[in-house]
Amino acid sequence: MNQVSTTRDYAHHVSGGDRAPAAMIERHSPATGRLVARFAEGTAADAAAAIAEAREAFDNGPWPQMTGMERAAVVRRWADLIEENLERLARIEVDEVGKPIRQARGDLRNVVSLTHFAAGLAMQVHGETYTNLGPQKAGWIHREPVGVVGMIIPWNFPALIFAQKVPFALAAGCTVVVKPSEFTSGTALELARLGKLAGLPDGTLSVVTGYGDPVGETIVKSPEVDFVSFTGSTAVGRRILANSAETLKRVSLELGGKSANIVFADADLDDAIDGSLYGIFYNQGECCCSATRLLVDEKIADDFVERLVARARTLKLGDVHADDADVGAMISDKHFDKVCSYLARGKAEGATLRLGGEAGAQADGLFVQPTIFDNVTRDMTIFREEIFGPVLSIIRFKDQDEAVRLANDTAYGLASSLWTKNFDTAHQITPKLRSGSVWINTTIDGAPQMPFGGYKASGFGREMGQAGFDEFTNIKTVFAHLGKREP
Ligand code: NAD
Repeated sequence: MNQVSTTRDYAHHVSGGDRAPAAMIERHSPATGRLVARFAEGTAADAAAAIAEAREAFDNGPWPQMTGMERAAVVRRWADLIEENLERLARIEVDEVGKPIRQARGDLRNVVSLTHFAAGLAMQVHGETYTNLGPQKAGWIHREPVGVVGMIIPWNFPALIFAQKVPFALAAGCTVVVKPSEFTSGTALELARLGKLAGLPDGTLSVVTGYGDPVGETIVKSPEVDFVSFTGSTAVGRRILANSAETLKRVSLELGGKSANIVFADADLDDAIDGSLYGIFYNQGECCCSATRLLVDEKIADDFVERLVARARTLKLGDVHADDADVGAMISDKHFDKVCSYLARGKAEGATLRLGGEAGAQADGLFVQPTIFDNVTRDMTIFREEIFGPVLSIIRFKDQDEAVRLANDTAYGLASSLWTKNFDTAHQITPKLRSGSVWINTTIDGAPQMPFGGYKASGFGREMGQAGFDEFTNIKTVFAHLGKREP
């Protein structure tokens, strides 16, 4: 048994050190019920203290003044320290999230890559010069760090989403206050401590744990915070947008999804089956871009669904610390009940249950069986609402136009996948899909260089890539007159 056997106690990470908490939030592993961590229950005063330090560190501290080379060196050292601690961090994610260890290791490998990539961007900050303004004028555009950034993070990829945001903002020269999810705060705190070891000056990166209200609300409403980068549900995203209006601060919102996964008759069907299973059961379906709606060409649908269900039967639930675990536990009792309510809705509304449809049998674990509903229709709740669990809805289509109509028939717009060997089909369909990402013959895929973000109710703003880095900058226009100015 590889699991971490002790319960970890965490204070806030503020001012480069730990700030003593008034009360603690207990975290039990959703896979075993065991008490795995206690996090400080942050107050509005804790959040305000961290914000004040971040403000001071931005306005008067060394970090924003350092050269890109110097900042890159610190962030690169940080990436190396994360790599050295990879297995330990992955085990913490398994304990707190209830995800399988293989997937947690993959997340942490991506954290290392993202942090290295962000370090490189610190050396790339540059502006533009205008040379066509005549002999007496000069004009140029600076790119500057946006300032103090508040980051609010969900529970499904605690370390990965931290890494999609924090190293990018730090590389740009910002200072940061992070509020992780109250369920899964361990890795954010551990990563911040490694950041301090790597050389981040005090006040540059703080982590305040606790609930959305008061910690998140204080960050979003604070006039001392210049930008809020939020990942989470569409409902909370709306509240954050409304709250940020009070101080007119910039926000980026990475929200929910109901992604389509389109399989054409000419696809490599083995790949498409693997991809479809990965798309819905990876991270037990608790993934913003889960491929929840499988649209299959009716010409191949019967055979495809048969083979898909047979493969899905082999997926393993259970000991999430074991190397062969495939599907983890739901994050909380409340979320488990919500996912189970969708199983009941799918059955009641007349979808054909092909697999699962029940809670998993594991004692003390909040497992839901991998579930596949066939013959789903557009009006069913399971076609429309984000379930955020291992529940696949299959619907058949006649032709390309119908596939596109179904794919876009959602309030969300995070990602779409399509499987075809015909480049013309892929090329024609891609611009018609109303989503921030399109994956061709793959799914839930990416690289630090490639930006990620949503259309429609999936939010706005981008993370990762140059576009994600630019979010943490402002441009300043400088216009100068040379020589004597005529009145
Ligand atoms: P959530 O919205 O409930 O919580 C997200 C974070 O917001 C948590 O840290 C929470 O404490 C905080 N929060 C809650 N109320 C707040 C408030 N009033 N003010 C400020 N902060 C507040 O989301 P969740 O349940 O943790 O995560 C699941 C959701 O996140 C899903 O909808 C999923 O699709 C979405 N998600 C999106 C992406 C993406 O990149 N688009 C990635 C992962 C998850």
